[in-house]
Amino acid sequence: MSANLSPSRPETKEPRAVPNFIGGRQVKSRSTRTMPVFNPATGEQAATVAMADTAEVAEAVAAARAAFPAWAATTPLRRARILNRFLRLAEDNIKSLAAIITSEHGKTLADAEGEIQRGLEVVEFATGAPSILKGEFTENVGGGVDSYSVRQPLGVVAGITPFNFPAMVPMWMFPVALACGNCFILKPSERDPSASVMIAELLKEAGLPDGVFNVVHGDKSAVDALLAHPDIAAVSFVGSTPIARYIYETASRNGKRCQALGGAKNHMIIMPDADLDQAADALMGSAYGSAGERCMAISVAVPVGERTANALVERLVPRIQALRVGPGSAADTDMGPLVTAQHREKVVSYIARGAEEGAKLVVDGRTLRMQGYENGYYLGGTLFDHVTPKMTIYKEEIFGPVLAVVRAGEFSEAMRLINEHAYGNGTAIFTRDGNTAREFAQSVQVGMVGINVPIPVPMAFHSFGGWKSSLFGDHHMHGPEGVRFYTKLKAVTARWPTGMPSGADFVMPTLK
Ligand code: NAD
Repeated sequence: MSANLSPSRPETKEPRAVPNFIGGRQVKSRSTRTMPVFNPATGEQAATVAMADTAEVAEAVAAARAAFPAWAATTPLRRARILNRFLRLAEDNIKSLAAIITSEHGKTLADAEGEIQRGLEVVEFATGAPSILKGEFTENVGGGVDSYSVRQPLGVVAGITPFNFPAMVPMWMFPVALACGNCFILKPSERDPSASVMIAELLKEAGLPDGVFNVVHGDKSAVDALLAHPDIAAVSFVGSTPIARYIYETASRNGKRCQALGGAKNHMIIMPDADLDQAADALMGSAYGSAGERCMAISVAVPVGERTANALVERLVPRIQALRVGPGSAADTDMGPLVTAQHREKVVSYIARGAEEGAKLVVDGRTLRMQGYENGYYLGGTLFDHVTPKMTIYKEEIFGPVLAVVRAGEFSEAMRLINEHAYGNGTAIFTRDGNTAREFAQSVQVGMVGINVPIPVPMAFHSFGGWKSSLFGDHHMHGPEGVRFYTKLKAVTARWPTGMPSGADFVMPTLK
């Protein structure tokens, strides 16, 4: 790859400055308001990122707007070919992209490669642009009249993304947006901003015209500038629920189409007939993988019946104690550090709160000591038992390696818990019984459901999204819903002069 992430600079001890990417090139921000980017494994500053102001956001929007007419007019097949080249380039560069993600997010290299792969599946879906954009045609809707409908791009669209998937979540959005003929502005998380610039460079190398994909870094000011800009037609957001609600309300008030995905509290029901070793293994990966910083992480286990609960906790404890916590770059690490010191503190305070409120702290991750990495943001896997629905650690999203066991007497009680919870992103059931699984899938008030699958993230050709406080807006992301979100439907009704009746008709046209 010819992409160079650090623009040429003299040898200096200054941390690397993460550039914006506007109009097809890396651009150093003029803003003097900067934020440090840390390597969570060591606590050292890895880079610095400037917070774009309204003027810089406007420059990115102008570049995208200028590129839009030609890109929208580019045939879908040519757009698809560029995405196809991007796919190959990203696959060739997956190791370096994963290394950048690990160095700023903290997740393991294997997990970083996994998120890139899942993102690239959306690119694969988007390379079917000529097929996914096919319209519908009805011949002879009236005498000599034909009707067809087409999907056309919206214009300049923006994506605002969270820290936890710096490659995958942007790839939920821009491949479909670009395939549909839109130009895109990405505002990535300021906590791990570098992957987005590398993605922009790879898109350029794949042949994407300048201005079609832009990156501006920043915080609330940059986001507010995007939400207020009259040339932004639509906003896709993924992040926490309070911000998702704010984005949706503000974007909608400003006349923009908006899909805003929020936080989660995902439950897994374990029925008495489940294979408990399988269920315990599934819980380990889904609760502690990526240090619990996944929107589809299972954070609540609901075993049904006392015997199931006791047997499950008995299986979980040794597995949690055996978790290999370490830097994400080490080959034998199961779980890396949390993203920032502040986030670690927040998770630690939830653990203290859970104990205060009377939950039984079975494994306390706060006791973990990391030799040689004392300044990293590590926290061991934590397990609470006898958690009740009134407790803060049950109601709120913790977004860390903390699993809460809520014991249910029967299946209906477990279902009620899920259906009464404010969040509705993902959920799972472990059972061998088809009737129970079917009832669960049919009645549960959650957007993404797993049956003996702990993290039921839909594949790229389906769509991703939760219910209730986990999504504001009408469209899920990628797959067919992504195409609907990033296009406007137009219906054309056509008649040619030989079929025209003579004389004016003042009555509402009906089929004669
Ligand atoms: P966050 O809400 O803090 O930030 C998300 C984005 O919003 C970032 O780009 C950030 O710069 C911006 N932002 C932050 N505060 C803002 C403000 N006041 N005004 C405008 N913009 C603001 O989320 P995060 O901590 O980066 O990510 C973790 C959250 O994302 C969790 O809640 C997780 O569940 C959620 N998430 C949800 C999904 C999903 O599919 N539903 C997927 C991934 C992450």
